[in-house]
Amino acid sequence: MNPNEFSSPQSTPVSTPDSRESNRLETPIRFLKGVGPKRATFLERIGIKTVEDLFYHLPRTYQDLTEICPITKLTETDLQLVCGTVDKVRFRRLRGRRSMVEVLVSDESDSLLAVWFNQPYMRDKFSPEDKVLLSGKPTHDKGQWKMTNPQIQELVEEENSPRSAHPILPVYPLTEGLTTPAMHRAVKYALQTYSHDFREILPTSFLESNHLVSIPEAFHTVHFPLKMSDADASRYRIVFEEFLLIQLALLLRRGSTKQFRTAPQLQNSPKIDTRIRRLFEFEFTDSQNKVIQDICADLAAGYPMSRLLQGDVGSGKTAVAVYALLLSVAHQYQAVLMAPTEILALQHWNTLQNYLLNSRVRPLLLTGSLSSSQRQDALKSIQAGDIDLVIGTQAVIQKDVTFNRLGLVVIDEQHKFGVQQRASFRTAGNDPHYLVMSATPIPRTLCMTLFGDLDISTIDHSPPGRKKVKTFLIESTKEQSCWEFVRRKIQEGRQAYVVCPLIGNSNGPSINPPVTEETSDQGSNVLDMYNQLQQNDLSDMSIGLLHGRMDDHEKTNTMKDFRSGAIQVLVCTTVIEVGVDIPNASIMLIHNACSFGLSQLHQLRGRVGRGSHTGHCFLFPGTDNTDSIERLEVLTHTGDGFAIAEADFEMRGSGDILGTRQHGVANLRAGNLLRDQKILLHARKCAQNLLENDPSLKTPAFQHLRQAVLKRYGHVMQLADLG
Ligand code: ADP
Ligand code: MG
Repeated sequence: MNPNEFSSPQSTPVSTPDSRESNRLETPIRFLKGVGPKRATFLERIGIKTVEDLFYHLPRTYQDLTEICPITKLTETDLQLVCGTVDKVRFRRLRGRRSMVEVLVSDESDSLLAVWFNQPYMRDKFSPEDKVLLSGKPTHDKGQWKMTNPQIQELVEEENSPRSAHPILPVYPLTEGLTTPAMHRAVKYALQTYSHDFREILPTSFLESNHLVSIPEAFHTVHFPLKMSDADASRYRIVFEEFLLIQLALLLRRGSTKQFRTAPQLQNSPKIDTRIRRLFEFEFTDSQNKVIQDICADLAAGYPMSRLLQGDVGSGKTAVAVYALLLSVAHQYQAVLMAPTEILALQHWNTLQNYLLNSRVRPLLLTGSLSSSQRQDALKSIQAGDIDLVIGTQAVIQKDVTFNRLGLVVIDEQHKFGVQQRASFRTAGNDPHYLVMSATPIPRTLCMTLFGDLDISTIDHSPPGRKKVKTFLIESTKEQSCWEFVRRKIQEGRQAYVVCPLIGNSNGPSINPPVTEETSDQGSNVLDMYNQLQQNDLSDMSIGLLHGRMDDHEKTNTMKDFRSGAIQVLVCTTVIEVGVDIPNASIMLIHNACSFGLSQLHQLRGRVGRGSHTGHCFLFPGTDNTDSIERLEVLTHTGDGFAIAEADFEMRGSGDILGTRQHGVANLRAGNLLRDQKILLHARKCAQNLLENDPSLKTPAFQHLRQAVLKRYGHVMQLADLG
């Protein structure tokens, strides 16, 4: 996260002499001794912009120099360390300007040939009889052990060399232009000069009772440990601190909402309840009713609700949200429903119109395609209180809309946007209540980090009669018979989606396409697919095209035609991923399925089988890689969104579940939500304990910690109330 984001006047703590010295740690990396402008550019490219960033660039793994392997005992392909004496040095010119340095090294057991390509200066590094320490991945070829471009760990000049100073060397994630020795040097300089700028923010007694090492020691040791167990303890400490700050920020925000903010008290009553339920043509399920109870308790409490409503696709979240919106309106408070895309806003609009047929609620659709005079009129009536319910996209609603009396804001698919976007509706007096909906089941640890400030309700059973979407993996030889099936279903009156990961290049470079549409640069794209189907496979059918680069007007018309049945097959990108609800569309084909996350595929297939016809989903893997294909198998045998999300999280990390890696809070510097679940739970527990008896974290011993929280997250999470 950009440190400058936190420099808003409200959130920056007054700097006191003993507050954590951050200025020196924010020294640009190019000013670090030995780095220079060229290497700085490479470092910046992997996110290392300051000295502090360099400290947070933790080793990927370590190399234990005490574990020297005799050459005869080497195994192919593992990173290993060899110590020997130089027998021969040979330099050879190859074709073009290429060259090769070969150094033959032997120990008591055997010999090894070290080879460097295009690094002619290597020949000057060695002379016969030198003792050397080389590390690399060896190969065995025609009876000769060989290492290509090995690292020279240390030129050992004499027995009892200074190797013991750094018996364990860090191995960093590297990119082009950065070598391991260069990284070692940079980190060493940084440690010499700056490691004492890391101030301890936790009191000693806290460190002791939680078995944590001090932070300056942690940064020293994590980069150059003497023992592997020290490295682990140091990493634990650094990751713990990162998680502790986030958890405190989230819990402080939750606490401050309850303590310092007020919201309209919206009591439910049997009369209101009956009036609302009458509008639905179905009975709510037990699962929905339980959630409605949670929500009603929150709405009556007098402080703003902050609740996350989770549930699988089609489990009936929107229906529950509509109940809450109507409860707000029943008290003459305006309510808002925000969707992540224009298509979804429109669809919510259609859904609401159905639900509201027999009511006097005055809804309004606020979209980007209103003319400016239409928009002015709309804003006026919202401000005057002539509108009860506003539906639109987040962008449209947040700009310049003033509400008369705002009671409730429902945000659909918030996780696509991140924590920052919440809480933009604060007004002088009351705050509105917030209900956040997510159809993407989020694994527990991730949820704790993204939504740790929210209360959570889950709809765990879908309405009765839901059928599982039958899902098949289609080998390339079976594609033809798959198309025949599709053709037959369409002739029977059904409709189909054909999903491709990419838009395609025929339209020139794209301008800010949604991340999800550009997941890889190879594979099928909608434009080519559209042409191909029109010309060959489905030339006698009516085919539509939908992707994120079309303007809103075109998108709306296409969706209208698909809904009416005028379009039989819709070739599209993931723009249809969330929420789109067209009951007659019962078939989906997904091209290059391997380039999607499992959760995303589960979302996508949730678009079919919504009506009375069984849904069919065909996955074309788009690769021969057996691992990738196996991964997809999960989808063919389970329909449980949570199980799929956990599998996805384990296999691919959080980025896929969120649909984007640009996530304020989830942008961790040291921690990893998958690998470090234990540390996260520890930090969460500590944060809860700390705030239990001291809800604003005022205890003098924890003032450095408190300031660190405010400095890092105060602005993003609007913790201004805490001062
Ligand atoms: P979600 O928002 O979780 O995807 P929706 O609220 O849009 O789910 O519901 C999906 C479909 O199921 C809609 O057509 C809705 O009218 C219907 N539905 C919702 N709740 C029930 C219920 N209790 N019984 C029957 N149908 C329901
Ligand atoms: Mg929905």
